[in-house]
Amino acid sequence: MAENLELDELRLDASGHADYGDGALIACDRLVRIYSAEGIEVQALQGLDLIVAEGELTALVGASGSGKSTLMNILAGLDAPTAGTVRVAGHDLGIMSARQRLLYRRSVVGFIWQQTARNLLPYLTAAQNVELPLRLAGSGRRTRRSRALELLDVLGVAHCARRRPDQMSGGEQQRVAIGVALANSPSLLLADEPTGELDTETAASVFGALHTANSELGVTVLVVTHDPEVSRMVRRVIAIRDGRTSTETLRAQSPGEPGLSHAVEYAVLDRFGRLQLPTEMTDALGMRDRVRLEAEPDHIGVWPDRPAGPPADPPALPEVSDISPGDAI
Ligand code: ADP
Ligand code: MG
Repeated sequence: MAENLELDELRLDASGHADYGDGALIACDRLVRIYSAEGIEVQALQGLDLIVAEGELTALVGASGSGKSTLMNILAGLDAPTAGTVRVAGHDLGIMSARQRLLYRRSVVGFIWQQTARNLLPYLTAAQNVELPLRLAGSGRRTRRSRALELLDVLGVAHCARRRPDQMSGGEQQRVAIGVALANSPSLLLADEPTGELDTETAASVFGALHTANSELGVTVLVVTHDPEVSRMVRRVIAIRDGRTSTETLRAQSPGEPGLSHAVEYAVLDRFGRLQLPTEMTDALGMRDRVRLEAEPDHIGVWPDRPAGPPADPPALPEVSDISPGDAI
């Protein structure tokens, strides 16, 4: 218990000077992560802001290389930011000692990797895998056993309790992995493309288990996915672009039409008033470099920066036949 006290001290300390995202489970404030390898610097996160409330189930989407895994690794306490602040359940991850980080990983977050083989120990059964984190936390044998079986049951893999990973399907392994991640009742469950190696049907079952973890066990879930089917099942989808959160989609249940939901797209407005417009929207209207704004009583209008009237003809381009192979173009 002394270990938990140590983490709690940090929490009180960190919340003393917090205001941005106060009360949120996750608050990333201008998060920067620069990797330097062989003299080349990569800015994986470029001032990312993110607030997630307790109890939310949120999907994170974005092109490959946009910084999703970098963010997940920082939230998991596996990596530290270069600049900016990040708080999870009141813990300031930027000022943690190595020991506090270890305690944080054991008790505050659960993590699921994309690679099924990475989540479970191959020589242990499903139940033993779920029991392992409980053993590290010092739980007694009976408590461990009943907690493991209860979790496997909730996640729909009770039938796998005595099987080793090689005796389970990929989807079953990932659902057991959710059980391992939940064993110590973390506040936050992180899953980095947990269905990336699975077919659509199996992915849906794993995703269903994440839903269950969120709705029945109350854990906050942040899941990275590139699967549009999956992101359609989530109320809040956040898009990351070039190391920043750019847009988000919120789905609301239509009253009187259960099952049907309508989605509203939002852009992130940062503390400096900057917002990123989705390229699909700006391209369609030929917006670039500068846009015209008009303040209305209840909204702000954004127009392309060109005079009213028919669009100007594009400048004439030379015919392909006019260019000879030697020309510099
Ligand atoms: P995503 O998960 O969205 O595909 P990542 O967070 O893995 O993106 O990567 C973001 C960027 O950081 C990429 O340009 C990637 O090449 C780079 N990157 C990630 N990890 C490292 C590393 N350990 N060293 C150097 N560059 C890295
Ligand atoms: Mg990734």
